[in-house]
Amino acid sequence: MKRHKELLPESLEFSPIRLLGGFICIDTHIGCRGCKFCLNRRQPILHRVLEDGFHLDLSETGLSTAEICGLITSLPSFREAMVPIRIGHLSDWAYQYQDIEHLLDCIPDDYPITLMTRFPLAEPQVETVLRRPNVIVHATLTPYMPEFHQDYTPHRSIVESVSPLPPTSLIFMLRPLVEGNVSETLRIIDSLPEGSHICFKKMSTDEIPSMPDIRPVTKHEIERFVQTAESRNHVALDYFGCVLRKKLGIPFFKFDEIGNQPSSACLACPNRTVCESVTPPGLAEIKTALEKLHIDCSGIRTDGSGVVVETRATASRAEEIYLSEKFKKPIEIVTVKRDSNRGSHYMKSDVFERWASSGFFPVERMETISGMIKKKYESGIYNAD
Ligand code: SF4
Repeated sequence: MKRHKELLPESLEFSPIRLLGGFICIDTHIGCRGCKFCLNRRQPILHRVLEDGFHLDLSETGLSTAEICGLITSLPSFREAMVPIRIGHLSDWAYQYQDIEHLLDCIPDDYPITLMTRFPLAEPQVETVLRRPNVIVHATLTPYMPEFHQDYTPHRSIVESVSPLPPTSLIFMLRPLVEGNVSETLRIIDSLPEGSHICFKKMSTDEIPSMPDIRPVTKHEIERFVQTAESRNHVALDYFGCVLRKKLGIPFFKFDEIGNQPSSACLACPNRTVCESVTPPGLAEIKTALEKLHIDCSGIRTDGSGVVVETRATASRAEEIYLSEKFKKPIEIVTVKRDSNRGSHYMKSDVFERWASSGFFPVERMETISGMIKKKYESGIYNAD
């Protein structure tokens, strides 16, 4: 069963800190280039923001970098579970790297952070990565698509800009991959420096407005890309976060699921012994953690190397991730929405009531900031692209 994508409710649409998709997502800037295939377009107001070319630095709302740091470092996901940080979710790192530099200063240098961009890196960005042991660059390379010509950045310029970085600080994400750009994808694989880390992601068109009628590449074509990458001595990964986990020696709770697959990157990964040596947690420890989250547990059982939690409370993926990263084993909560067809759904208000009452997330402060950004956007008075 696949997990549904979680969308934030109206009160938190512009929240600059988000617990989504297995990460603590942070942005100090709102607005971006507006790629037609951007996954943020699933949220109607974010779609309009991209169409309108809205741009805003968070400092304009009165939210300082020091306050963002305080909010992040007080999150249980940060303090107790070391949930990785991802910067560049609502915007691109390119639009915010100066403010992000201050943010990085307040985070310990063994904390995993991914900086995401689809633009060539400026010199100060390269220096940031070379100076900090706990960050990697997630550089997205998009094979040329005539349908999206206006959104195209030649991959060569991005690859050249990151050439001073060692492979241990870099993942190339080839996406979105669609039918018709297979040969260009193969050319990009050939052009990357030997030993590169690469991930492949097919186009997702679900619930993104105004997508032309194009089809994602097939599973078979993805397998062909992986094989081609391996034949060029690259490392093809299922999860880009594994570059950081290897670098910092952090185990991944998904290891038991992916580690022994026939073509798994885990087979040759130097972090394998770290990932496979995790001792499963005791059920009593997990129950204590659930109490802190204010989740009533009606049953708990081991399932393979992981744990399944029964509850009637509406739970979120963020809480599953918190527990899984904390105990380094997969912990599934039965009420987190799953389906055979992946889709998206708005998170329910009872999730945020619990997050607020348990101190899991600063709901009230983020609603205030989100409201200020929305007001600015709706005023129509701002600098557009
Ligand atoms: S062993 Fe596998 S799961 Fe662990 S860090 Fe390496 S690639 Fe990731």
